Amino acid sequence: MPREASEMHADLVEIIGDAHRVNVGESARQLHGVPYVGTYKGLGKGRLPDIVVFAATREEVSEVLAYANARRIPVVAFGAGTSADGQVIPLHGGISLDLTGLDSLEIRPADLQATVGAGVTRKALNRRAGEHGLMFPVDPGADATLGGMAATNASGTTTVRYGAMRHNTLELEVVLADGRIIRTGSRALKTSAGYNLMHLFIGCEGTLGVITELTVRLYGIPEHVIAARAGFPDLDSACRCAVGLVGTGLAVTRIELVDRDTIAAINAYKGSSIAEQPHLFVELSGTQASVEADARIAREIASVEGCERFDATSDHEEAARLWEARHELLFAFENRYPGRAVKGSDACVPLSELPGAVRFAREAMTNAGLEPSILGHVGDGNYHAMAMIDTNDPSDVARVEGVFDQIVADAIARGGTCSGEHGIGIGKQKYLLQEHGDLIPLMRAVKAELDPNGILNPGKIFAEQG
Ligand SMILES: Cc1cc2nc3c(=O)[nH]c(=O)nc-3n(C[C@H](O)[C@H](O)[C@H](O)COP(=O)(O)OP(=O)(O)OC[C@H]3O[C@@H](n4cnc5c(N)ncnc54)[C@H](O)[C@@H]3O)c2cc1C
Repeated sequence: MPREASEMHADLVEIIGDAHRVNVGESARQLHGVPYVGTYKGLGKGRLPDIVVFAATREEVSEVLAYANARRIPVVAFGAGTSADGQVIPLHGGISLDLTGLDSLEIRPADLQATVGAGVTRKALNRRAGEHGLMFPVDPGADATLGGMAATNASGTTTVRYGAMRHNTLELEVVLADGRIIRTGSRALKTSAGYNLMHLFIGCEGTLGVITELTVRLYGIPEHVIAARAGFPDLDSACRCAVGLVGTGLAVTRIELVDRDTIAAINAYKGSSIAEQPHLFVELSGTQASVEADARIAREIASVEGCERFDATSDHEEAARLWEARHELLFAFENRYPGRAVKGSDACVPLSELPGAVRFAREAMTNAGLEPSILGHVGDGNYHAMAMIDTNDPSDVARVEGVFDQIVADAIARGGTCSGEHGIGIGKQKYLLQEHGDLIPLMRAVKAELDPNGILNPGKIFAEQG
């Protein structure tokens, strides 16, 4: 180990007081430097952290940051490492600060709230909340940490009903770059007390501070759930139906679009025989009477839009089987294109623009000779174009990039955004410039105020200034 690294190791062991939680081993560094998923896994950008620190308390986080800040050592906060745009890659080495040891968990049923350490995962929270008949609804698919979810303003299949992390976080404890510990927000359900600094940290991708604790909202587990899978002759009618279902105010908890090619990939992977046509996967929840009434209306709306088959069930296991196809589609893609990495856009548009945006994305992919695959949380206008990319072939990378550039430009032109849920990371910086180029100086000013030495996840969201 070079002298500087060995000094840093010794200093951090002294701060943490436990050599087992300060790791310079190759496998710990790999696990914290190579993203779990996405093109950055394959493209091999960036480098490994020099050292991984497993923090267990807010005080340890504070001391590590104060130490790193004094020496200008980069620090990348690390939750479960499931983020999609290279967010956890330590572009300049330094410390990967693993927060999974911050695992305190308090449920307050009377307030419909939980206060959790940043390292608690959403599944762990749901296991404990379930004991009280409660649930935490934000579901990005992966078993991410609540700290990482707040840091990316994660959302997912249930956002159409319950909102994203910003809507469900009431209070944050954050450690600033210099080690100061602050609290923003409160446990009240609403507040008008001054600037909302909490929402600056939500979605900051670890560039403004390290979240150590969150208070989040919980909800009652609905009494009755109906899951349905509706097949349509074309994507336009499926999209129009999604907009119609949301617009009528039905108790829609999830509404997911899966196109024909994706269904074909799922059939090949699972050996299933789902009709190979665009589908909406829908979930309605509430009381039995209300959900059954809503399901009838949903069936009618779907039929008006040309729905050709509508399978619905309230049986838990059958519902799980209906949804299985949606949940496993990433693996279905990997199975269909071995050796390739998945690249997905996560643009989001106003609901009325959704059918046009999805049509545009399909045409752009087809024109470039790609097999078009579109899916997404369409109840909130968020759609993913997915392409399997050969990361060893620069021309393939450039071709896919070119198509995604068109798809994102189209979404922005429709009044939408380049990222509905995954964040900017490394990959979408050029799109953030297109969407909010005039605001980048303001964002930089906020960053300079909170992290003057630029130690927190440098090179993410926007490029460092030369
Ligand atoms: C199969 C799959 C499906 C997915 N689907 C969705 C989806 O539907 N919706 C969605 O939103 N995302 C989705 N994602 C992406 C990912 O799950 C989310 O971005 C998630 O919020 C990341 O949480 P994490 O704990 O893994 O954070 P990490 O990946 O560890 O970190 C994410 C970012 O937050 C920072 N960070 C982590 N913890 C903290 C902290 N305590 N304080 C400050 N900064 C911190 C990191 O430095 C990094 O910049 C999916 C990922 C996978 C693998």
